[in-house]
Formats: sequence, C-alpha cells, structure tokens
Amino acid sequence: MGSEIVIDQIDMEFLAQNETIKALSNINLNIPAGKIVSLLGPSGCGKSTLIRLISDLLIPTGGKIVVDGNEARQARLNRDFGIIFQKPTLLEWRSVLDNVALPLEFLKTNKKERKNIAMEQLRIVGLEKFAKHYPWQLSGGMQQRVAIARALTYDPPILLMDEPFSALDEFTKEKLHLEVIRIQERTKKTIVFVTHSIPEAVFLSHRIIVLSAHPGRVNHIVDVEFSDSARTLSIRDDLQFHDYVSQVRNCFNGGAIDEG
Ligand code: ADP
Ligand code: MG
Repeated sequence: MGSEIVIDQIDMEFLAQNETIKALSNINLNIPAGKIVSLLGPSGCGKSTLIRLISDLLIPTGGKIVVDGNEARQARLNRDFGIIFQKPTLLEWRSVLDNVALPLEFLKTNKKERKNIAMEQLRIVGLEKFAKHYPWQLSGGMQQRVAIARALTYDPPILLMDEPFSALDEFTKEKLHLEVIRIQERTKKTIVFVTHSIPEAVFLSHRIIVLSAHPGRVNHIVDVEFSDSARTLSIRDDLQFHDYVSQVRNCFNGGAIDEG
C-alpha cells in the first residue's frame, strides 16, 4: 500500500549567477495514499524540483514535506521512494537482470534472493525473457520498463516518475500507460507522475495538480473520475475524457503548453 505525502508551505529558491530564482512558491498539497497524482505544467514550472524535494534530493528553502508522518529525509532513509526519470539511466555493461538487481546489491541482499526478486520484477513489466540481454539490445520503451522494474525492486510505497515516457513514440507510450495503471491497481502504490501532456495526465491520474510557472504555483486541482472505472485505451474516445482534457486545458487560460 502507498504512503500519503503532505507538502506543507514549500518554497524553493535557487541561487544562480548571483541571481535568486524562485522555482516554487507556497506549495500546499495533499497527495493521497494509493492514488496516481500527476504534476502537470509547462517546462520550467518546477515539476522536477518538486519531485527532488519530495525524495529529499533537495532541501526546501521553506516549508516541509511529510511522508506517512515522517520527514522526507527519514522517508528517503526508509527507502520509501522509487524514482524513474526521463532517461532510463541503465548501466550498459550489465545485463538487464543485473541492472534491475543493482539496488539490492547496495542493500547487500544475497545473490540468490537478488536474482529471484529481480526476475519477479521483470515478470511484472513483461521482460523476463530479456533478463540476459544488455540495455543496448532493447528498444527505448523496453529500457524504460527495465528502469521501472529496477525502481520496484525494494517495493517502495511511492513511485516518483518524472516525464518517464516523453522520449517514446505514441504506441509505446500507450502500452506503458496501461502498465503503470496495472502496476498501481495491483500494488496500490502512490504514484506521482510528472508530465506536460494534458491527455496523458487525464488518462493516468486520479488527481491532476495543475502548476503555473515563474514561480511555480498550484493553479488548479482536478479530480478525474470516469464512470467506467476500468481505465482502458477506449476511454480516450469517450466524451467524458475530452471534457476533462478541455477542463484542464482551460486552467491554463490559453497559456502555451505542449500536449506531447
Ligand atoms: P520543470 O521540471 O517543470 O521543467 P524545473 O523544476 O526543472 O522545472 O525548474 C524550475 C525552475 O528552477 C527553472 O526556472 C529552473 O531553471 C530552475 N532550477 C532548477 N534547478 C536549478 C538549479 N539546480 N539551479 C538553479 N536553478 C534551477
Ligand atoms: Mg523537469
């Protein structure tokens, strides 16, 4: 089961070339446990910054982040987060299996157990037949699935996904969307999904946090509920889907946003 993330009055400023850049201003959010929540907004609005703050890769200038009652730092030490970036960042000289098992090596899990857990994760993402292959032998979509499997190895209650599919073609993207939904339904993890695509956010999310830029702020929150509870590709043809896309687009008041 996933964890709840509470973002409480977060401010983030960066100092670059003697200039202060306010990346995020007074962010207050409640990301419920066991849901898929998207952070949606134009490039530069602070989405990646927010992901790095949640995962304690950055310390906020102001405010705090609480994960199931623990500060972000403690949550990181508890390994509450699995992170998936836009690039899969696999080690080219290691097999698929050894890439997936890498976090378990850091945890000093024994070899047999490492292999069993990594194989199980590869099965979840449908790549068990490619365990002995090397990253360069796989397509971009398959490499990203390996990155997902690697993030799942220590069964973190939270997956943070920062534009994980934006470099992939539409067909691969659609397959991976279904995979994310399936993994979430099966594991009930909390998934924070960063995107600049409105249809992607609507298809995947239970809740969409619409951010605006300079400084990054919460602009709107849209809860997405389809009357047909099963999220299959066909819901994209439904009027309800298009209504949500319009509703979210209107949040931007005609501001430029790439729908990917
Ligand atoms: P997004 O992921 O939404 O595209 P980012 O979180 O990467 O946006 O960046 C938000 C803002 O913060 C941008 O103006 C960016 O230039 C700035 N920023 C991000 N990281 C740093 C950093 N390490 N140093 C200085 N400025 C940064
Ligand atoms: Mg980013």
